[in-house]
Amino acid sequence: MELVPLRAFADNYIWLLHDGRSALVVDPGDSTPAEAALAELHLKLVGILVTHHHADHTGGVATLRQKTGATVFGPARESIPEPYRKLTEGERFELLGIGWQVIAVPGHTAGHIAYFAGGVSGAPLLFCGDTLFSGGCGRIFEGTPAQMLASLDKLAALPADTRVCCAHEYTMDNLRFAAAVECGNGELGAYTQRCAALRAKGQPTLPSSIATERAINPFLRSREAAVIHAIQQQDPSARGETAIFGALRAWKNRFQ
Ligand code: ZN
Ligand code: FE
Repeated sequence: MELVPLRAFADNYIWLLHDGRSALVVDPGDSTPAEAALAELHLKLVGILVTHHHADHTGGVATLRQKTGATVFGPARESIPEPYRKLTEGERFELLGIGWQVIAVPGHTAGHIAYFAGGVSGAPLLFCGDTLFSGGCGRIFEGTPAQMLASLDKLAALPADTRVCCAHEYTMDNLRFAAAVECGNGELGAYTQRCAALRAKGQPTLPSSIATERAINPFLRSREAAVIHAIQQQDPSARGETAIFGALRAWKNRFQ
């Protein structure tokens, strides 16, 4: 299985997974990059996985489905271009000979889902849309801090070697914030250097891994003493894990 990040818009990735003949794409906000890659690699598109309803993740769905006949999978609780297979928490399905598991991750949007595959060649795969980014997490548009924290806890509990396929290249901005939260984190410093070198060569920083994110991502570390201390310096009224997580997200929102 080959995993390829296709660039779209300013900083989106449309993930392409294929076995040399058949392919799936994740969150095609624009059909053009996906169509170009499918033609170049002589692939038949069999599935389109959608994580949430935002236009930068769904804009190419109708065109791709119409041109390829691929089956569309998406969150039952959101409205994306019909017809599609409506998925909910814990549901399993097979695509490309791989078993996929649906994880409900509300917060960024109310019905956001992620797709996890444990039994894939190489390491497990996670397509997490705009919920978990490398070094960060999505803005809480429709959910609550409590929901987002619970969603991130579910993802953090996945196997350490899981490949984390996020939908945006936000890593360097996120790591600048992460350094402001946790300047004493040595793994964060080393990871930042590796990512900066990749970006200097014009390469993606993704996929990340769950092990890396547990070590460097402040939004997966909001129960660490050093992180709590930094958050409470910003917002002394933040008490309890939900309020502390919410204060961390609010701090990121105003961080320049
Ligand atoms: Zn989004
Ligand atoms: Fe997005």
